[in-house]
Amino acid sequence: MTGAFSLDELTACASHQRGHFLLSSGLHSGDYLQCALYLAEPRRAARAGGLLAGELADAATGIDLVVSPAMGGIIIGHETARALGVPFLFTERADGAMVLRRGFAVAPGQRVAIVEDVVTTGRSTREVIEVLDAAGAEVVALGSMVNRSGVDNPFAPHPFRALLEASFPTWSAEACPLCRDGVPVAKPGSRPIARP
Ligand code: ZN
Repeated sequence: MTGAFSLDELTACASHQRGHFLLSSGLHSGDYLQCALYLAEPRRAARAGGLLAGELADAATGIDLVVSPAMGGIIIGHETARALGVPFLFTERADGAMVLRRGFAVAPGQRVAIVEDVVTTGRSTREVIEVLDAAGAEVVALGSMVNRSGVDNPFAPHPFRALLEASFPTWSAEACPLCRDGVPVAKPGSRPIARP
């Protein structure tokens, strides 16, 4: 997918910020990316969900439902499921383990697409794959708004589609060129959501 979704769109709503950031991983980066501000506008979320639904329908046939890991995947997963016309379920953590939200279940053989907002290490998505495998469901495709994993498909052999490939450099504090240049480390700035 090229052209339909761009980093500029994320930058325009401050979902992507440039500067010098201490990430939650403890690493430093000149880029901060977090889709929540983009998805805070429902019309944007619906548009992204529609684009991702198109990608997933192209990657796999007969998707029965969409499952997303909480919290980041919930809005984009919901909008993708709406566009596909299928149910949407999400996971939660119980005592540190990834499980389907209480009250949700999948049936053996159901064809599931997993949807995330941003794939970085892919760890939480892989935990969702394990939950669905254990339930006997079939993971037929995975999708995210942004792939910043640095590899084309961190979930191979499962098909994976992202609306945007964005691999930003990160460094340990000791190796950070922005620290070396004396640039102050900032927390990502917040911005009020304006009515469009
Ligand atoms: Zn730094």
